[in-house]
Amino acid sequence: MSFNTLGLSEPLLRAISEEGYSQPTPIQQQAIPLILAKKDVLAGAQTGTGKTAGFTLPLLQLLSQSAPNSGKRKIRALILTPTRELAAQVGESVTTYGRYLSFKSSIIFGGVGINPQIAALRQGVDIVIATPGRLLDLAKQKALSLSDVEYLILDEADRMLDMGFIHDIKKILAMLPKKRQNLLFSATFSDEIKKLADGLLNTPTLIEVARRNTASEQVEQSVYFVDKLRKKELLSHLIKMGNWQQVLVFTRTKHGANRLCAQLEQDGISAAAIHGNKSQGARTKALADFKNGSVRILVATDIAARGIDIDLLPHVVNYELPNIPEDYVHRIGRTGRAGNEGEAISLVCIDEKAFLRDIEKLIKKEIPKIVLEAFKPDPSIKAEPIEQKGRGQQSRNKPSPNKNDPSGRGRGENRPNSRSSSTPRKEKGRA
Ligand code: AMP
Repeated sequence: MSFNTLGLSEPLLRAISEEGYSQPTPIQQQAIPLILAKKDVLAGAQTGTGKTAGFTLPLLQLLSQSAPNSGKRKIRALILTPTRELAAQVGESVTTYGRYLSFKSSIIFGGVGINPQIAALRQGVDIVIATPGRLLDLAKQKALSLSDVEYLILDEADRMLDMGFIHDIKKILAMLPKKRQNLLFSATFSDEIKKLADGLLNTPTLIEVARRNTASEQVEQSVYFVDKLRKKELLSHLIKMGNWQQVLVFTRTKHGANRLCAQLEQDGISAAAIHGNKSQGARTKALADFKNGSVRILVATDIAARGIDIDLLPHVVNYELPNIPEDYVHRIGRTGRAGNEGEAISLVCIDEKAFLRDIEKLIKKEIPKIVLEAFKPDPSIKAEPIEQKGRGQQSRNKPSPNKNDPSGRGRGENRPNSRSSSTPRKEKGRA
């Protein structure tokens, strides 16, 4: 199938061709005609499937079909995302695909100065891409009006709910006109997502593309058994032996990310960390340095890494396994994209064996295990329970606003109402 058959206009086709896309991805094939037919859509698609173009292209086309000839620009399309990084990426896509159209878009997120955003909005924009918190702040300050929104898109809606944005989303919905087209994109369809979709979408069409864990045989997965205290050493060894030049490494905690970064630097391997305690400037710089190759290793926590789009990422390392099996799938989905092969390695100590079993159950596959002679686990070390980040324990704590979290409004990796604590276990086996 070619893009020409999907009903997109010439300026969009030109931009697509300049991006080098020869044919639409499965989610694009399904979503574009439905959106152009003005249907509400509930789409199951993960990052890496081409979902952003799947909604951005038809949105731009619909906007251009009914563009007012005169008058001040009004916000006609609102795209909500869970994180700043994703907002920035979607904003970039809007600019890229819309480069032969004359729409103005604005990206709005917390953690950076509000005044430039107010100034940009004052000039008039057609499309706003925003994280919920800062958008509400601006709406409260009357820096923007949402009363002319014709198109609402929730991107990575499951993550928005995980991060506790449901109340903000409801407040935003109350500011929108009743008559509008709604698109909801989510990697998973939990009960919460279905509830949100029921309240939001008007007789939606459901579309879904295969989850990456079932679809992607492109990612070669393996597990290295190693003692916890020797993980740093093993990681440096693997990076050096394999001469890996670009590696995304996941840790379970922000402090763990910082510590690992420092250790790698000590070993002469350039590394940067990206997590909720880093300022927006530091995160943008870390990501840019990683993308341009001046930093070899990017150490990230799950939420910070969500939505990061890096083409051709060859190696993903789980320095610690996530206690939520679905996060493993999200993590390894960072590699093996768009037809390229990738490698996902997990360093697993004795304490994490239960997590490994949960993951293998979810992906319905046994991951090959490797024990390097020089890093053989010490049999005298016994398993100790790992603090269950996000599960159980945290739900007993009170929310503690974190000014540096991805939304800039107190939502971050440690939110007690993350999916892991609010809906434990029941999502298992949902792949
Ligand atoms: P997304 O799932 O929206 O994060 O997109 C993942 C990656 O796929 C991005 O780097 C896009 O530039 C790329 N992409 C989107 N559509 C296509 C296409 N039709 N052909 C090839 N690459 C694409």
